[in-house]
Amino acid sequence: MNNLELPDRSVGNFSVTAISDGYLSASLDLLSNIEPMDALRLQHDAGVSDPSSIHINCYLVRSAGRTILIDAGAGGFKQWGGKLKANLALAGVQPTEIDTILLTHAHPDHVGGLLDASGEAAFPGAELVVHQNELSFWQDDTHLSRASERARSNFLLARQVFNTYRERIRTFAEGEVVPGISAMALPGHTPGHSGFHMESEGCSALIWGDIVHFPQIQIARPDVSIAFDQDPHLSATTRSRLLDIASSDRLLVAGMHLGELGFAYIKRMGERYEISYET
Ligand SMILES: [Zn+2]
Ligand SMILES: [Zn+2]
Repeated sequence: MNNLELPDRSVGNFSVTAISDGYLSASLDLLSNIEPMDALRLQHDAGVSDPSSIHINCYLVRSAGRTILIDAGAGGFKQWGGKLKANLALAGVQPTEIDTILLTHAHPDHVGGLLDASGEAAFPGAELVVHQNELSFWQDDTHLSRASERARSNFLLARQVFNTYRERIRTFAEGEVVPGISAMALPGHTPGHSGFHMESEGCSALIWGDIVHFPQIQIARPDVSIAFDQDPHLSATTRSRLLDIASSDRLLVAGMHLGELGFAYIKRMGERYEISYET
């Protein structure tokens, strides 16, 4: 794959393109329920060359009359990612053309790219659509006061983003968020963590946010959570339930940390699951 061939799929009348924001780095020590050596072995067995690097995707969704971006990458926060704008341009889209941004959740590697280098809105014409529990969680001073130093910077960034877009925020609880795209509650990772399920002309796909960070580890072992999961047990339960649905329904899935290929299918292998990037 080269930069001029961005991974994309047609889902009925929707055209969905994976737009890379680049990478962040996270230690395998952050995983729970697995020894780091076992996690490393799963990475090596799957041919992963840099076992502690996590790829960041955003998704561009185009349909008649709408140009939607799902999540916005890290935007260079902590030197993570920051390539969204350049890669959007490769897809022929300027930031001003984005009319809607759907957020899976408000972690920095998903909202950092909503601000430009001077702290202004990077997508000045876009409505920002987010789960009401996600918005209220990051704005709650009780949660902020209990946060670790690392989490504290996450709160401050999320608040800065929400403040910058405050005139154009629309919250949802469930159901259709734009025509043909419905929110799916995927609790555990953050309080309002949501997937987006699109349906058109009998075709469907699910963009599942942060169900996995290390796909080759956590799809084989859905019981493995990561320190970024606010509720590790609930996120493991959600992951298992979703992998069951995705494999049974042969659902096309996309995720922010699914890798550069951007789209995959899940296969059940006995008690385990396997990821397949074949079309
Ligand atoms: Zn996250
Ligand atoms: Zn993430």
